[in-house]
Amino acid sequence: MPEKKHLVIIGAGFAGLRLARDLNNDPNFNITLVDKNNYHQFQPLLYQVATANLDASNISFPLRTIFRKSSNTRIRIAEVKRISPSQKQIETSVGDIPYDFLVIATGAATNYFGNANLQHFAFPMKSTTEALQLRNQLIQNIEKASLSTNPMQIESLLNIVVVGGGPTGIELSGALAEMKRHSLPWDYPELNFAAMKIYLLEGSSKVLGNMSGKSSARSRSYLEKMGVSVHTNTLVKDYDGERVLLQDGTSIASALVIWTAGIQGNAPAGLDSKYFAPGNRIRVNQWNQVDGKIFALGDGAYMESVEFPKGYPQLASVAIDQARNLAGNFKRAASGNAMLPYKYRNKGTMATVGRNKAVVDLPGPAFNLHGYPAWFIWMSVHLFLLMGFRNRIIVFINWVYQYLTRNQSLTLLFPFLSRKEQEGGAGHR
Ligand SMILES: Cc1cc2nc3c(=O)[nH]c(=O)nc-3n(C[C@H](O)[C@H](O)[C@H](O)COP(=O)(O)OP(=O)(O)OC[C@H]3O[C@@H](n4cnc5c(N)ncnc54)[C@H](O)[C@@H]3O)c2cc1C
Repeated sequence: MPEKKHLVIIGAGFAGLRLARDLNNDPNFNITLVDKNNYHQFQPLLYQVATANLDASNISFPLRTIFRKSSNTRIRIAEVKRISPSQKQIETSVGDIPYDFLVIATGAATNYFGNANLQHFAFPMKSTTEALQLRNQLIQNIEKASLSTNPMQIESLLNIVVVGGGPTGIELSGALAEMKRHSLPWDYPELNFAAMKIYLLEGSSKVLGNMSGKSSARSRSYLEKMGVSVHTNTLVKDYDGERVLLQDGTSIASALVIWTAGIQGNAPAGLDSKYFAPGNRIRVNQWNQVDGKIFALGDGAYMESVEFPKGYPQLASVAIDQARNLAGNFKRAASGNAMLPYKYRNKGTMATVGRNKAVVDLPGPAFNLHGYPAWFIWMSVHLFLLMGFRNRIIVFINWVYQYLTRNQSLTLLFPFLSRKEQEGGAGHR
């Protein structure tokens, strides 16, 4: 590489940001990091924003601050509309950007499996904005319930259905159960929260299907003890904003359905369909290369291996490690050395259900932890991974405060975050 190459990275999530940071000030590259948001968001703690435990700013970090002193990295806040491999450029909401190398790290989007009603009425939780919209709707419903005299309407406004028994669904329903038990009755003494039901619906036979049998069973028992109604082998067929219709013909009255049951790759248009694998993920080789000068990383990349014939799990650790490997490969290639393949290292999986309740599976030799030690590990790992010293301190103080008081106090209503305002209104919203 005789002269500096222009590397364009789409997406400043776990993968894109790690890559840009690892190549920061590298003399061989000029980097343009493009994201539609001007901040990096820490998705693993979105559920705490949605349940009024943390403020959105505690888990978001401005991109320009990270690269303030960078000699080679520039930020573009823009939505990428299209990739044009033949012209070696991307089309964005602020104009075209040419590249020598392109890395697609646009993550994943919520998958409603083609159900337009669910997409319209259910709430996703993949971004900070969506977590705040969810919090707004939750509080708005309870406010409405506090004004209603109709018992059926009160039931529907208080009931919450979480669809998807993966880590996000587990963590969210656990946090909602804690809210129901403590801070909501303190804030709304006029309402009877015994009438509020939190349902967790999972299509397969167990929750936390990617974890060990022990962790799955334990998390279910934690949730049930906390009052969550857990239903496995239960498929949602439809939702009209008022009732959730299940595949077996029964239904649940609920004005708030949270959809955490599926994700799919989120690549901008322009790549040939031959590059796509099931789940709309971009097929990459062991070097995260799509073709020629184009690479893909993280949730949106599909890399097969013998142990993972359906691609690696869509986890932050995979996104970060792939980015580290690719940064090393760019440096190696720049100095004329061979690139190294990415190798997946299972660092373990974990999920928390609530105060002193979590499950951790550690790899070979397989080992499970639960209860307080698992909860402590979960908190330490998440604090460590969170970006920014200030954010870590604030989150830590918040957690200590909540541990001592059980108070979920960020129950603020912001009208501009209401989906009704943004979408022109629909259904009961
Ligand atoms: C609620 C939740 C909880 C999770 N909990 C855990 C956990 O506990 N542990 C764990 O390992 N993993 C967890 N994950 C998964 C983890 O967050 C993902 O694996 C990880 O974020 C993937 O990183 P990524 O860089 O591929 O994508 P992301 O981090 O999603 O980043 C994608 C970036 O691309 C940007 N972008 C997308 N499209 C465009 C476009 N067209 N133009 C411009 N910018 C664009 C987005 O704004 C975003 O910044 C969780 C995910 C969610 C949603």
